[in-house]
Amino acid sequence: LSFGSDDERWAAVMRRDRQADGMFYYSVVTTGVYGRPSCAARLARRENVRFFDTREDAERASFRPCGRCRPDEPTVGEQHAAAVARACRLIEFAHDMPTLDELADVARFSRFHFHRIFKAVMGMTPHEYVAMHRAERVREELSRSETVTEAIYRAGFNSNGNFYAASAWMLGMTPTSFRSGGQGTCIHFAVHERLPESVLVAATEKGVCAVLIGDDPRALVRELEDRFPQARLVAGDWRFTELVADAVGAAAPKRDLPAEVRGHPLRHGVWQALRNANASGWQLTHHAAS
Ligand SMILES: [Zn+2]
Repeated sequence: LSFGSDDERWAAVMRRDRQADGMFYYSVVTTGVYGRPSCAARLARRENVRFFDTREDAERASFRPCGRCRPDEPTVGEQHAAAVARACRLIEFAHDMPTLDELADVARFSRFHFHRIFKAVMGMTPHEYVAMHRAERVREELSRSETVTEAIYRAGFNSNGNFYAASAWMLGMTPTSFRSGGQGTCIHFAVHERLPESVLVAATEKGVCAVLIGDDPRALVRELEDRFPQARLVAGDWRFTELVADAVGAAAPKRDLPAEVRGHPLRHGVWQALRNANASGWQLTHHAAS
């Protein structure tokens, strides 16, 4: 973990590192003030500086917020993350997928500004995020709805045509095969351990069929087996494993994002990265049933 030691923290304060903002706070015993690592105020002497993990800790120790860097107010990054989180919650709980105008409205930004902020925070456009979320819904619905048609309707697709056009990248197999637990498919999977959580990615030669996130890699493999009891599961080769590692690395969400929405951008980002790799010619070799 970076900024874990006092030496690293002091080095960050000396270079007024913006990346360190929100990771810790520092106070100056001679002035009684605490601030952010990037504060533009004149540098204090090292022996007068104390470090705190949170602003509450600094305030409990009777320091008051610096008037210059305003550590008691949200940073621009935090404000943006909170606005994006509000939009994500709307996407999650709405039955019909919200429009860009509706999303910008709950985020309290103009349409244009919101689009930019969303992309910067989530690594994808609101439109892509909505599409990813609807795909997630249809996967859930397929496992519990009576029929494929009902699942398509319940996930908010307004036409079967829209659904079938996108079904390969959403399911990695036909809807019927998905519903039956992967009958007739060969699924390659790889687990990338990135503390504190692991990410399992599973794909067929048609596309990704699952991205699972959790702390226990073995539990993720069991979850995959439970979802696709009829499929042939194969450990991915080094090429696939490397692709998964790259996708997980590229999808790292912003740390400012509230915990309850943090899992979605990671799952969606990994899915998107693999989809892009697939579009640029990457393909799994099909394993014939042995
Ligand atoms: Zn300050």
